[in-house]
Amino acid sequence: MIRGATIRGMSDRQCVAVHAGKIAFVASDHSVPEMEAHVVIEAKGGLLLPGFVEPHIHLEKAYLLSEMEKEAESLAEAIAMTARMKENFRPADMIERAARVFREASKRGVVHMRCHAEVDPVLGLSAVEAALAVRESLGHLLDLQIVAFPQEGIMCAPGTAELMEEAMKLGVDAVGGITYQNEDTAEHLDFVFRLAERYGKPLDLHVDFSDDPKQLAIADIARRTIAAGMQGSVSAGHVTSLGAIPRMEAEQAADLIAEAGISIISLPLTDLFMNGRGERAPLHRGLTPVELLLKKGVQVAAGANNVRNPFTPFGNCDPLDTAWLLAIAARMGSARDAGTLLGMVTDNAASAIGLTNYGLRADAGADFVLLPSATEREALLDKPANRLVWKNGVMTAGEVTGGPRNRSMVPTGF
Ligand SMILES: [Zn+2]
Repeated sequence: MIRGATIRGMSDRQCVAVHAGKIAFVASDHSVPEMEAHVVIEAKGGLLLPGFVEPHIHLEKAYLLSEMEKEAESLAEAIAMTARMKENFRPADMIERAARVFREASKRGVVHMRCHAEVDPVLGLSAVEAALAVRESLGHLLDLQIVAFPQEGIMCAPGTAELMEEAMKLGVDAVGGITYQNEDTAEHLDFVFRLAERYGKPLDLHVDFSDDPKQLAIADIARRTIAAGMQGSVSAGHVTSLGAIPRMEAEQAADLIAEAGISIISLPLTDLFMNGRGERAPLHRGLTPVELLLKKGVQVAAGANNVRNPFTPFGNCDPLDTAWLLAIAARMGSARDAGTLLGMVTDNAASAIGLTNYGLRADAGADFVLLPSATEREALLDKPANRLVWKNGVMTAGEVTGGPRNRSMVPTGF
């Protein structure tokens, strides 16, 4: 039982009881009598969140900094450099890098994660298999969803279509796609929508990653989503070109995205680093227009995308880092904005990847992160290192010591 916790949207301190890996109940602290809980954690007013959700990450190509011959100066260069490095990716190394992301993310409170595993003629299905292996060995730390991701394109990388089909048969959770590879976007979207429909899986696409106002596949994706009756089952990452078109047009596109129930996943660590270069730099920051999408009622989440590689030579697998960066870059500085941003790495990210068993409510999985912060704003600004993390009711990170009462424990550093 966790007592004395601060929970978003609730004014008094809360008590959360856990039984057999699930939440038994959530109630006002003062309404719950001293009872025979096996262990009581005294949260001392710390902020309890339902665990962070990392909605978009790449495992097999994380932690490549020491192998890079130089820094990537454009998206095309980052893709080309990584494609060359992929030729030397061995299964054991991919598993090791993925495991490192798992451990780092878990330590920081991530309890669910969706990764995009690259499927192409060079890697074949080895990145999918590495993700499956780590899901198996480290599944006690967090739940992993795997997207089959054709980073090098489908038509322009012969053999990929068949590999995508094979990946579905291996049991991946979603169909991936990319609208900015050098091939016919309509043909690419035809393929991925058909594959998703045939296997009854959601779609999670890399979309419009540029400052080029002419790249606007998201509108076509929204129309296709509605036509296919797939509202609520489609997510799109990046969508940064939308921030580079005239406001009126962007508003119309945002309305269409909202109507299609597409979740947009902002990836600020990568987007701010890769976009906004060249002669357009003074005009565009390269970011998803988060404020516009929120205003239009689009479900917006935020993710890390990459960790320490040519696309993103940064990253600690910490959703609070992502939220903090977005706070500055999207000019979301109020206390209320802090709540919105935490929602983007918890509830919204959970919806974006289709989680149903998530949240601080009875019967949901007992997945939590407890922060020594009295408010959402403090959590965002402090990004505290002392965090207690539970997955399925088992503490996976943090330390507690004996507390003042029988069976009670106090988190270290609170
Ligand atoms: Zn990505």
